[in-house]
Parts: sequence; structure tokens; C-alpha cells
Amino acid sequence: MTVGIYALNCGALEFDRRSFFPDATRGEAMRVPVPAFLVVHPKGKVLFDTGIHADGFRDPAAHFGKDLAAYFKFFCGTGEGVVAQLRLLGLAPGDITHVVNSHLHFDHCGCNALFTRAEIFVQGAEMRATQAARDADRRPDRDWEGPLAYRLLEGEHDLFGDGSLVIVPTPGHTAGHQSLRVIAGTGLRFCLTGDACYTQEHLERDLLPSGGAVWKADEMRHSLGILRRLRDREGAALIYGHDAAQLQNLRCCPNAFA
Ligand SMILES: [Zn+2]
Ligand SMILES: [Zn+2]
Repeated sequence: MTVGIYALNCGALEFDRRSFFPDATRGEAMRVPVPAFLVVHPKGKVLFDTGIHADGFRDPAAHFGKDLAAYFKFFCGTGEGVVAQLRLLGLAPGDITHVVNSHLHFDHCGCNALFTRAEIFVQGAEMRATQAARDADRRPDRDWEGPLAYRLLEGEHDLFGDGSLVIVPTPGHTAGHQSLRVIAGTGLRFCLTGDACYTQEHLERDLLPSGGAVWKADEMRHSLGILRRLRDREGAALIYGHDAAQLQNLRCCPNAFA
């Protein structure tokens, strides 16, 4: 059985470094990559996260509202973005059979609406919390909405029943965050962490981001422990949510990194 994993470059975000590292110097900017990942399995083509909506790059204030647009700077180079990256592999959005959203922040579900032939896997807790925040007028980003084929999960889920792709709840950053464990064709194990852990430094220092990026600190710390155990006991390589240094060193699309 061959399972390949591809890292897709979906642009970048820039913001105050302290939102990632609360002990950083005030006013220092930080730019991080926005990745998505494609896992090709004999039974399906699985996309982990979908990046940022194209209109979000073109006109952030119009698409996301003034506050969000004032906080983030958006960058998308030629050939970047989920559609362009899939094209490098000879694929179109209609070829994707499964989408797994780590969570419903704008940089992880922005292009969901393009994947009309895919079932979209999200934790029920994530969807309920996101809808409640919208109803309370606390969610200007709406790319997760729409008549999409969402399948709401309540816990762990083995996508193909063979243990090669297992969705694992890793809440804390958001109410229903989830990560994806993958056993590649080489037998090597990986875990795509999403924002349960932004960078290797967060894991090494057992560091949580600033309060705005933490739904519940104790749950996020518990999830960091889950990831650490996957690494230390099962030998899984952790692929972090927004780690520039790590992503630079991964073989990039159209090559599989595993
Ligand atoms: Zn997030
Ligand atoms: Zn993110």
C-alpha cells in the first residue's frame, strides 16, 4: 500500500510575534507559512486543511472585516495557494475525496467551498463553537459556512479503517481542534499537528501562544502532551502548523516528502 504525503504552500501571514511567543519583544513582526497537506491513499485523496480564501489575499478588509485585516498581513506568491499547488500535481479540487479541517480558523478552511466532491471532516465541538461565535457576532470570517458536505466527528476517527490515516482530537487552541496521524508507504509515522502546536519551539518549551490564540490553556497543554507521546513512544515525526524552519526543509510540491 502506498501512502504519500505532500506539503502544499498556501501563502503566508505576518503579525505581531507576541501572538505566537508571548515573551517576545513588543512590536516585532513575524511571518509564518500557511501550509496544507495532501495525503494520497489508494482509497482516496485527503486534504488536511485548505488554506486562505483567494479574496482574503486580494482584499483582506473586504473579505474578513477591518479588525482582522488590521491584525494580519497576507501574502500569496505566484504558484502558491491550494489550487495552484494541486495543479502542480496534476490535480483539480474535484479530485479530492476527503477534506480534514484541523479547525475552522480562516487560514485552515478558507478554500473549503472549492471541494464540492469531498466529504469534510470536522469535530462537532469545533462546528458548534464556531456557529455560536458567529451568532454572538464574534466571527467575522465566514469561509467555513455554506452548504458543504460536513461530517461532524465526536472523537477519534480512522478514515479508511486500516490505521494509516487517523484523526485525533487535540483541543485547546480551539474547542474542537484535531490532528492527523499518518503512516506513510515507507512505514514512517507522521502527525500533522495543525495549530495544536504552531512550531517545534512551542513543543520544546511547552509554550502556549498568547491568550487570543488559546481557547482553553489546560486542554491545549494536554494536547501538547498527546503530540509529545506520539513523537516519543510511537516515533511519529510531528509536522507543525506554522513552522517556517521546518517547512523550508521539507521536500515541497510536486514532490512527496514522505
Ligand atoms: Zn488556528
Ligand atoms: Zn493557523
